Amino acid sequence: MAKVDLRLFAAFGRKIVAVGRNYREHAAELGNVVPSEPLLFLKPPSSYIESGQAIVVPPACAELHHEVELGVVIGQSGAHIREGAAMDHVGGYVLALDMTARDIQSVAKAKGHPWTVAKGYDTFCPISRLLMKSELPEPQNTRLWLNVNGAERQNGSTKDMIFSIPTLVSYISGIMTLERGDVILTGTPAGVGPVKPGQRITAGIEDIVHVEFPVEAAK
Ligand code: MG
Repeated sequence: MAKVDLRLFAAFGRKIVAVGRNYREHAAELGNVVPSEPLLFLKPPSSYIESGQAIVVPPACAELHHEVELGVVIGQSGAHIREGAAMDHVGGYVLALDMTARDIQSVAKAKGHPWTVAKGYDTFCPISRLLMKSELPEPQNTRLWLNVNGAERQNGSTKDMIFSIPTLVSYISGIMTLERGDVILTGTPAGVGPVKPGQRITAGIEDIVHVEFPVEAAK
């Protein structure tokens, strides 16, 4: 049977595995310690939106934050993948925003509760098109940037990740099978901050890919 076109990963991928605190400066800006092993959480694939669609601020959220991240799209399924084989399982990349209800997350953190609500609302995972591996030959040495209304908020390099892409693929696949179409969000560099309805987020990976999302209040 022919494989489904990986460009349609958002339609058929079954999970989004996100990594928290994978850049030192971002861990520090939120007052968090740097983890000794990857800190994982899940986002639902129902939170995907494509460039041009609106990010909706939920009524329960008073502080919605942007987090620009490099997403790794799995092309070849696998479990217990060795670091040395990890890149063979990577099918491509995507620019993603890990939208976060920071106020809801802060309450959850204080109570020791999971981050599912803070990370899981509809529209909380805006994404770009799929980038083929050939379009991003140095995924571990590339610039991610994000502007709000044209003003720079985030501008960091993936070389500053604490846990590298092969380490993450290996670690995660030791817990759950990584399936074709799944996405790993590899964490955000420093500069996260709030967005409000009426503002516009633009973001990109260098000048290789560019996305744009208006922020709207819930209707
Ligand atoms: Mg994040």
